[in-house]
Amino acid sequence: MKFIMLGAPGAGKGTRAALMAEHYKIPHISTGDIFRANLKEGTELGLKAKEYMDKGHLVPDELTVELLLDRVGKDDCQDGYILDGFPRTIHQAEVLEQELKKLDDKIDYAIDVHVPDATIEERMGGRRTCTKCSQSYHIVFANTAVEGICDKCGGEVVLRIDDAPETVHKRLEVYHEQTKPLIDFYNERGILKQVDGSGSIQHALAAVIEVVGY
Ligand code: ADP
Ligand code: ZN
Repeated sequence: MKFIMLGAPGAGKGTRAALMAEHYKIPHISTGDIFRANLKEGTELGLKAKEYMDKGHLVPDELTVELLLDRVGKDDCQDGYILDGFPRTIHQAEVLEQELKKLDDKIDYAIDVHVPDATIEERMGGRRTCTKCSQSYHIVFANTAVEGICDKCGGEVVLRIDDAPETVHKRLEVYHEQTKPLIDFYNERGILKQVDGSGSIQHALAAVIEVVGY
């Protein structure tokens, strides 16, 4: 099964994708996490991506598309995957579609996690992220047991630079201009499924299971 997660930054794509990955036993591929991991290792890609990410801009396609195609070509992706944060533009979606077509393959579902903008801004202000395993937390809704320490891996939990309020605003703007059109793109292909992102996480996994049938 191949999934794409759609939705604004902070809609809860990542959290849901992680639960789905566990449930369907397929990898969760987050382009944002890949860039952050590269940055931590100090690779050239990571340093380049940082310039864009810190400002809330998209990383250029030259850096993003190859990386993603390479990742989905790996052995662990044979039974499918969950893409979180890719595609983010119509161009990226078209390239992915063409590349899959060459393999006589396609995406099965595009899951749009819908949350109102006001809720998004509220959520992002309280979001904290583990620097080691990328698990996200919220200081009000889902805090760590010990302040600043990841429940899962013991890593350091921080406010991401691009979660600062000014940057969140820019990211939402970019989302509306460049990423939201993907909803129509996948609707036209008959694979769009919308789930309500304002409810509880548990329920959101159930919503996906209902759509897929198992
Ligand atoms: P969120 O889902 O909260 O927006 P991500 O971790 O998915 O956060 O992405 C963080 C940043 O990484 C984005 O704001 C963007 O700069 C960059 N990025 C991630 N995926 C892509 C992509 N497919 N195309 C361009 N830039 C990307
Ligand atoms: Zn962690």
